[in-house]
Amino acid sequence: MPSEATTVLLRGGRLATAAQGDADSLLIEAGRIVWIGVAKDAPRADRTIDLQGSRVVAGITDAHAHLFMRAQELLNLQLGPGAGNIAALLQRLHAACAVAAPDEWVMSADYSEQFLDERRHPTREELDSVSGGRPVLLRRTGGHLSVANSAALQRARFDETTPDPSGGTIERTNGRLNGVLTENAADIVAALIPPPSQARTIAAIRKVADECLSYGIVAVTEAAVGFNNGFKVEWDIWNALRGEGGLPLRMGFMLRIDPAEAREYGLAPSGIDDRWQVRTLKFFVDGIIGARTAAFFEPYADRDTSGLLMEPPSDLRAKVIDGHACGWQLAAHVIGDRGIAHWLDCLVAASRAWPRADTRHRIEHFAVRGPRALEQVRALGAVVVPQYGFLRRLGASFAEAVGAARSQRLYPGRSLCDAGIVVAGSSDHPIGSLSPYLGIATAIDRMAANGLVLNAGEALMVEEALAAYTEGGAFAMGHERHRGRIAVGQYADLAVLDRDILTLPPPEIEGARARLTVVGGETLFSDGTLI
Ligand SMILES: [Zn+2]
Repeated sequence: MPSEATTVLLRGGRLATAAQGDADSLLIEAGRIVWIGVAKDAPRADRTIDLQGSRVVAGITDAHAHLFMRAQELLNLQLGPGAGNIAALLQRLHAACAVAAPDEWVMSADYSEQFLDERRHPTREELDSVSGGRPVLLRRTGGHLSVANSAALQRARFDETTPDPSGGTIERTNGRLNGVLTENAADIVAALIPPPSQARTIAAIRKVADECLSYGIVAVTEAAVGFNNGFKVEWDIWNALRGEGGLPLRMGFMLRIDPAEAREYGLAPSGIDDRWQVRTLKFFVDGIIGARTAAFFEPYADRDTSGLLMEPPSDLRAKVIDGHACGWQLAAHVIGDRGIAHWLDCLVAASRAWPRADTRHRIEHFAVRGPRALEQVRALGAVVVPQYGFLRRLGASFAEAVGAARSQRLYPGRSLCDAGIVVAGSSDHPIGSLSPYLGIATAIDRMAANGLVLNAGEALMVEEALAAYTEGGAFAMGHERHRGRIAVGQYADLAVLDRDILTLPPPEIEGARARLTVVGGETLFSDGTLI
């Protein structure tokens, strides 16, 4: 909105909740909502925007996304869902290698065998055949598994005699390395790749932020600073970006370092900051279902493994107690029932050792809970950060991997709300689609792409699902007094949508986009249909 307009009236829309009654208009002054009511009673304003009956919701918070990882995808060989088959992949890899320097790494950050017709990884020999001796690393979306060629394995000094590193595997076929690396083994190879240039990465992150705004997303919690290129490299880039004016989004950061490393970097938890908030440490307790590394009490239904914990249980417990005592908000990636139980036990131990009020520790994913989990989460006052959108693309493969009984506990919704637990909606982009409306639709219909409905009893109402992406996300960041709702006194963080998601069936909700996105009273995205 032009800066000379000190008051702006948004008129003739559908405001989000029943609490607003017939209200169809709101007035913005100095970045906040100062009046809500019906158009005929509206105060005079410097500027008026006619919403043409559009649905208005509070600006969306994506509580867990990886903007840095998505930026890297944009900068590397992109092998996303359109990858085709192995031959097509090799052809594109060949082309990328042909223009790379003789010893340059060639990388993809959005590879998955699930995107290939053959549903298998390329072999080490296939990769060697097109790479001209250059090291190649195809990182599976999510970053928990990679496929390396011979040159990359050699640089990491991995050979047939190398034992698996702790928290990772170097996979073999008939005793010979086949190039597939999981978790820490993949990280060892990834750490050898030189970091991307700051300027190119910052430009790519800005592109991703613009994409967020086009969905009505006004705030993002970056889910693991340090996950791709190590903490120092990534944090330097984020700070350089901040020095250049930051992002149009309200940003929170989860740092993938332990409390002792945070002290070495001179970092302590910041206070509540509604533009740039650094008060959360992120741990990885277990792996993922796709690579069968998520930790369960019982083996997978289709594989003779029950996954793995990333580090010895007592090590994590000590770090959690340390971080909690230092005042950090703590977050952990946990997927399997054993991973979840271990994380909750660590948080309980920390709260006993150092009682602290209102910690809002976080539980990322919470994919397959165990029987005691809900009661523990509630007692801890922890926030659950699921990605319901995963049910659509991956629900069927999750159900196959964990079996029928555990599928009943996949991505709870209703049971969380009924227990009074705060849910913060998120995309986990680029692992999941960035669209919050896909997440909302799936939280309601819980339907996998093949039509399988996963535990209909956990379905949320549309208002509850939307609240997870607005109020829940703001609460997880400690912002609830300033944003997350359409109410007088709250920031004018708003998404004006191209359809009424509160009245449409899930398949139509899923395609929603923003017509206007307003952050702190400023219009930062417009699709051109309203202004
Ligand atoms: Zn994530």
